[in-house]
Amino acid sequence: METYESLLAAVTAADGGRPVSDPATGEVLGRAPERGTGDLEQAVAAARTAQPDWESLGHEERSRLLNTAADAVDRSAEALAHLISREQGKPLNGPGSRFEAGGVSAWLRATAATPLEPERVLDDESGQATLGYRAAGLVGAIGPWNWPALIATWQFAPALRMGNTVVMKPSEHTPLSVLALAAIVNRVLPEGVLTVLPGGGDLGAAMVAHPAFDKLMFTGSTRTGRAITAASAANLPRLTLELGGNDPGIVLPDADPAAIAEDLFWGAFINTGQTCAALKRLYVHESLHDEVAEALAGVAARMPMGPGTDEASMLGPLTTAGQFRIVDDLVAQAAAAGGRLITGGGPDREAPGNFFPATLVTGPPADAPLVVEEQFGPALPIIAYSDLDEVITHANALDVGLGASVWSGDVERAKQVASRIEAGTIWINKHGTVHPMVPFGGVKGSGYGLEFGAEGLKSVAVPQVIAT
Ligand code: NDP
Repeated sequence: METYESLLAAVTAADGGRPVSDPATGEVLGRAPERGTGDLEQAVAAARTAQPDWESLGHEERSRLLNTAADAVDRSAEALAHLISREQGKPLNGPGSRFEAGGVSAWLRATAATPLEPERVLDDESGQATLGYRAAGLVGAIGPWNWPALIATWQFAPALRMGNTVVMKPSEHTPLSVLALAAIVNRVLPEGVLTVLPGGGDLGAAMVAHPAFDKLMFTGSTRTGRAITAASAANLPRLTLELGGNDPGIVLPDADPAAIAEDLFWGAFINTGQTCAALKRLYVHESLHDEVAEALAGVAARMPMGPGTDEASMLGPLTTAGQFRIVDDLVAQAAAAGGRLITGGGPDREAPGNFFPATLVTGPPADAPLVVEEQFGPALPIIAYSDLDEVITHANALDVGLGASVWSGDVERAKQVASRIEAGTIWINKHGTVHPMVPFGGVKGSGYGLEFGAEGLKSVAVPQVIAT
């Protein structure tokens, strides 16, 4: 049986390599091999060589292999979950690393099962035309550190299903989880079909500038997304950009604070707030403001924070010291500007690990950096509003639009409000839940292109019309 130790040993560099530290303790847990441009050339050549045979296997056989890969992930799920908890920090339990490992397998299976039939787009006396989708060729994928294994799967599974081969670069903060996942999946896949190249941002930049890629998938910051768009212009690969967000949640006056508190909490604090489509600013009607804030503080008080590998933890450390400093700074600025910390704040800056307590800040000014910038951590600003039109203006005021949510006892009314919000997904009475059959993507500075479902398959393919 695969253990955390055997999985880690299989992917740790024999010597040298880049140290990877445990965010709960600061200790080095392993060393990731460091790949450079020579390795990139080799990986690209192998992937190019493998692609025609992989494509010619057809959808049925590729889907069978994705299902077999999901079986392999299931067998190693516990070891993979422990590695994710050690490297990235999220707890084993709750919406944590076991949930992430389970999601990997669920997404592999759903991607294998998603139908994608050619569409008859014209059929009359003038002729017939059919729109179908072929493999793009070689897909390059660059990933983040917050959900390393799950987001890697969101990138490689649809790409493989469509007959592409894939070269991936994980974040330098979480390379081991992605290497481990690829090692498991590659027990099933033919050689050269999926290659993971651990390295830093410079390796990512080299990938983006490489003319061999037909398609690039990127999940990370808006800043890097912009750099990738500019750098890829010379070769014109197709792009899917899943960038950050600053998702608003709007609680309407007819919501029930006690009933929504736990879902609101996890909408914001899942993965200790380090989720692209987490709830990042909460607007509550003034008639419910204090009650919602109190109910949220009550949920926060029941959620133990500790090392991800501790079975009792529900919240973990921030993955990087840099992210800790961002959150610390935003909370300090919000407090200095008049925001009230009703729970949290005051992290122990001398203690080992990047632990920042779950923090709720009521009444920050509308333009406080904690409200208008992406905190990507466990600090939620709560803002009272009185006028619906005004709060929708605030929700739409930022240059990002990944997700949003509306909370109400009247779902039809909530849907009307939702239709006025500029975001790729608006959830009603929940926030951030994704499903492998439901397309997901952002608008404005949150990027473009859809993932998941048939739309996700189309976005890692090239359209082809056959007309008679
Ligand atoms: P980045 O956007 O810098 O990193 C994401 C990935 O891009 C990493 O693999 C990184 O490599 C790589 N990369 C960095 N520079 C380049 C480049 N020029 N060309 C190609 N690839 C590159 O995010 P950070 O890790 O620095 O996080 C910063 C902020 O981004 C966070 O504070 C958060 O707000 C947001 N974020 C959003 C995520 C989301 O899910 N949408 C996920 C993670 C972060 P390497 O890590 O090795 O430098």
